Amino acid sequence: MDKELLHEVFRREMNDRKIPLSLGKTCPVKCTFCYEKDTGYRTTFDTPLTSQEDWEYILKEIQSCPTGKEHWVVGGNEYMEWTDLFLHPRAMDWLNEFLETTDKNITLFTVGYTPAKEINKLAEKYPGRINFELSVITLGSYRKRLMPHAPTKDQVLKILDGPAVTSANFYSFGPDTMFDDALRISRINNECLLWMGCLTPLKYIDGDTTSLMRQGKKFLPREARKIYEANLPNTTMIQTESDITTFLNRNKIIKTFDSCELEKKDTVVMAGNVYKIMNLLRKNRARYLYVPNHTLGGDSNCSTLLTFDDVGRRLTNQKRVYLPKVILEGSSGEEKDISGIKFDEFKSRFPHCSFKVLHKVNSNLSNKKLYEKGYLKNYVEDYLGNPLHKKFEAVALPI
Ligand code: SF4
Repeated sequence: MDKELLHEVFRREMNDRKIPLSLGKTCPVKCTFCYEKDTGYRTTFDTPLTSQEDWEYILKEIQSCPTGKEHWVVGGNEYMEWTDLFLHPRAMDWLNEFLETTDKNITLFTVGYTPAKEINKLAEKYPGRINFELSVITLGSYRKRLMPHAPTKDQVLKILDGPAVTSANFYSFGPDTMFDDALRISRINNECLLWMGCLTPLKYIDGDTTSLMRQGKKFLPREARKIYEANLPNTTMIQTESDITTFLNRNKIIKTFDSCELEKKDTVVMAGNVYKIMNLLRKNRARYLYVPNHTLGGDSNCSTLLTFDDVGRRLTNQKRVYLPKVILEGSSGEEKDISGIKFDEFKSRFPHCSFKVLHKVNSNLSNKKLYEKGYLKNYVEDYLGNPLHKKFEAVALPI
């Protein structure tokens, strides 16, 4: 890849406050649940292993950016494939240098390749500047099967034993999985946030892993109730189920749609999660066009992850269609979906249909609500504890 293009890719990532390190290959951890197994839904560039020269360029660019409240992120690139960047032999040196030579904050995503002593020392030296999101996934018997090349659970527990980890995420895969992990982690570290839930199968996830994820979903209520009763000192959140989030935010969703002043005959695009709520509580308020998440497939049914291609597949002879703004917010600052297709490009494919954007249904709102109502307590008390959730779960989606 020529230098000019490489620097262009770096700059794009840095515009989104990503620190564009690369392993120069696909991720060697080979997690069976990895959502990056198929990056076909977005455009990525094959970038080489980050060299010292690349790093100097990146650091200089970062240093020249104004310091705000935002965090610079290691992991989760947009134009480069995701890998565990702490597998890069220089990653810890560069993290040190970043903290020493800038006054900026940083967020780290890893399955645990940060050496335990070193990362905990750094957290002590730079209090408040490191947001460390540790992907524990599971410490139980499914770990080897799901994460064949991940760090051992002892390594993960050592990292947790110190001030570094801000939040640990792990999931339900069946009875006494999420619950056991919550107790175990809390005993070692009673300050980090416990971020839990289920993993959603997408279309390219293998059959065994898909079954395990579905088993986890089935046992989520039981696991969550047990954690709720254990009354752990840590903050506990459930943030991965779009149906649950939608149900907990139903009043806000309905209020937002009401304020959009739609007519009964207006056609409004939505994925399964919002469709179920609108059908349950505002039946026939408008024509709800259910759009399955065909691009991601599997069990996904989230409006924020819809693509224009998904919408196009469901259009017939509509003259006017309302789209939630979240679909257009796949890339910062531009009207693109999560697969990188531009809104204008999509509109030109349907010259006989006019598209109106529901600006109030935007990512700011959905992210805010995701966090506000994302506590395990909300799930147990306001979802499981509310008989209406059964009706909600029973709403059938059109074919
Ligand atoms: S470590 Fe992350 S990027 Fe790598 S395979 Fe696992 S989930 Fe995917």
